[in-house]
Amino acid sequence: MRRMVIVLTRALAYDIQFASDDQMAELRNVTQLLSAVRGQAAMLLLGVSVLAGAQQAGSQWALKPYRVLLVVEKWEDPASQVITSERDSFQPVAALLKAWSVPFEIVRLDQQALGASQLFERTGAMRYGAILWLADSASYIGKNVTALEEAAQGGTSVLVLGSRCQDPALERVLGLKFKEPYSSTDALETGPPHFITEGLARQRTASGEFDSRLWMEPQGSQVLISQQTHPVLAVRQINPDTSAIWIGVPHLPDVTVSPYWRALLFRSLIWSLGYLVTPDADYSNRLILALDDWGTADKGFLSYWRYPTLSESVIREHLIEPLAKHKAVMAANVITGYVDRKSKRILVPWAQKFTDRYGVLQDYSSTKQGLLAAVSAGVLEIESHGWTHMQPDLDSPPGPWWNAELDGEASAIGWYEEFSDRRRGSEAPALAQLFHLKRSLEYLREDFGERALSLRAGGGAWSRSYVNHTGRIAAEAGYGLFEAGTAFNFYLDRDIVLDMAGAIAGAGHSHEQALNAQSWPTHPDGPIMVTAHDRDIALQPDFLDRLFEQLPRGYETLSMNQYVAVLHTGIESPAGGGWRLAFRLNEPYCAYFKKHSSSWQLWLGGRLRQQLQRVPLVEVSVDQAPPSRLQTSEALRQPLIIEIPAGAEDHVWKLNPAR
Ligand SMILES: [Zn+2]
Repeated sequence: MRRMVIVLTRALAYDIQFASDDQMAELRNVTQLLSAVRGQAAMLLLGVSVLAGAQQAGSQWALKPYRVLLVVEKWEDPASQVITSERDSFQPVAALLKAWSVPFEIVRLDQQALGASQLFERTGAMRYGAILWLADSASYIGKNVTALEEAAQGGTSVLVLGSRCQDPALERVLGLKFKEPYSSTDALETGPPHFITEGLARQRTASGEFDSRLWMEPQGSQVLISQQTHPVLAVRQINPDTSAIWIGVPHLPDVTVSPYWRALLFRSLIWSLGYLVTPDADYSNRLILALDDWGTADKGFLSYWRYPTLSESVIREHLIEPLAKHKAVMAANVITGYVDRKSKRILVPWAQKFTDRYGVLQDYSSTKQGLLAAVSAGVLEIESHGWTHMQPDLDSPPGPWWNAELDGEASAIGWYEEFSDRRRGSEAPALAQLFHLKRSLEYLREDFGERALSLRAGGGAWSRSYVNHTGRIAAEAGYGLFEAGTAFNFYLDRDIVLDMAGAIAGAGHSHEQALNAQSWPTHPDGPIMVTAHDRDIALQPDFLDRLFEQLPRGYETLSMNQYVAVLHTGIESPAGGGWRLAFRLNEPYCAYFKKHSSSWQLWLGGRLRQQLQRVPLVEVSVDQAPPSRLQTSEALRQPLIIEIPAGAEDHVWKLNPAR
């Protein structure tokens, strides 16, 4: 027979292992020996159940695994890589988890079973601090939902959004049973005080007033919010450290759109995991400013888009100065492939100096000097706008573009887009895009010594099928963020291409319009991407001064590379004494943190707060630095700010009760 053993070490960490009866007997002997020798120093609890294990763990200074399992019913991408706001209903929740820096894995019930191998580590320890259940099937036959019940008993909290939960195991875990749909326009009432609903205002029903909602019958759960007789938020405490929460959010996008539902999800996550670590930033007044088109060839020959390149002196006076004056930072989305009609080749832009067909001096080498000066002044980051800003195929019909009339075919807008082929009515081929994206990274490094992390598609044109998905290919090439137009902002890494709609928004700006920042969408979880062109400074030299004059008070620019680094920092809760949080700086995305510190917010709920309240002082340390002592009252102030120093290596933050 195998039993679960919980070993409490001197460092007060706990570890769950499986042992045979023989080993158990041995352990008993060892225990007696150890007790005799070291008294309280070593304790072994024998033959306890998984449930008791979780409760025991609850009394120790340890954190649950900082990992959430997102259970979705289906995912449009059969290869499980691209998540879009148009096709994947779970996208708003995935985008919020990413924006909050909550590590998550996904299980899709249209392809996968659930099962213990998913939910437990091979040691028997729980793999997830919480399961976030979004699936709403009529039933879950063959999905082994019972394993979820075991995980819940083992210490994994369960948080359900907008699902009928039509499975006996789910019903038992939640203490709720689906009865029937209902419609109501009554206000939502907050019931007994609870951490989850703390500070929450009474809410009129905001979205989908007359839409069908889920009537769940409480069967052992506590209703915290209700709409007349219908539970809207119910919690069942499985043990002091583990809960099951059901939230009847009318529509999943409400969690990004409505502060009410966002707050409920946020606080429910803290309650489920016991804690949450989020970026220390309120993005609602943060903008990432970017100017496109540095290095493009068309400014010297397109009748409707012509202007002089910016000289080094113009860049110094009208870019570096205003940015430095406003303590601002900006991205330059640069093109490193100059499409030369004379030689019919792609050349180095920065070698071009000539008088164009309109009699205007074009001096690209001066532009490059200006950009380098701005980078060294710390006000500019070099990012990618693609390689050429033009069709990868400039030869086939209706081309060749090379010698087509500039006043005719060669002026057609479709030629000036790199990642979609509107001129020929098709997408851009995947391999052609990959080739261009890699050339861009390579030449930006060669020309500026910078590793670009963000790609902005020229002309807002990009390919959307899975095979040719520009974001997916950019992720493959090693970009960390992909923007197209104002509506599309994708988080990218090696595993996932995630549409951040709902958290990140975009706005265009030009010298011909007022900034109109009052109409920008704002969100606490994501900045606004504001894009203009080098052309705006060329045609209106004080363009940036005017922009900052019109920017509402309180708005600040955010560095693109800093934002990419924040989104790609992997946060974990490694085993060891006390509360430990590891901050993994994933390459190449987190390069910004090699030279800059980062700041995070730690939110505590439930058991962790109680533990803190029981000790007068705690010790906090980062890496090998000597710990500093902190009054518990300070540590309890929410959120607790975690400062992580600059440095290329991963960092570990620790909190222990002071000895
Ligand atoms: Zn452009």
